[in-house]
Amino acid sequence: MERITLKFIADGMLGKLTRWLRMLGHNVKYSNKLDDAQLIAIAKKERRILLTRDLELYQQATAKGVNAFYLEGKTEAEKLAHIAKRFNIKLDIDMATSRCTKCNSRVKPTSKEKVADKVEKSTFSYYNEFWECPKCGQIYWQGAHWTKIRKTLEATKEKLEKLNKK
Ligand SMILES: [Zn+2]
Repeated sequence: MERITLKFIADGMLGKLTRWLRMLGHNVKYSNKLDDAQLIAIAKKERRILLTRDLELYQQATAKGVNAFYLEGKTEAEKLAHIAKRFNIKLDIDMATSRCTKCNSRVKPTSKEKVADKVEKSTFSYYNEFWECPKCGQIYWQGAHWTKIRKTLEATKEKLEKLNKK
């Protein structure tokens, strides 16, 4: 099934959430150096959905015809669940569409040999599947940290179920 890639721009407070959405394959522009006027201008020009926890920014953006989403929730799982509900986002990571958490480019599968001198020895000997960001060179693999990632996604799905019952 073809996944839909959504285009977002996140305000400077949403760095963590940006990484989650990129992992899930969405195109998220993020910089903590953009002011409110710039965020609104970029959202409008590039037809991005503006994500914010700043009510004033949300209202300004909406008044200017920008598609904005005012984010509720305390934990990352709660925030993600609210976005998932609103935009029907699939809460599973598919490496075929996943993006670099650092720079937003689509990651590409790479061979084990090619990452030999780029990852730690233990990682290299333990894992066989690697992905590389063609833009910034960041290497990805589904290592020990994936247990935590899956847990957060499971928690998000539970929150989403509760939200859907409301
Ligand atoms: Zn990158």
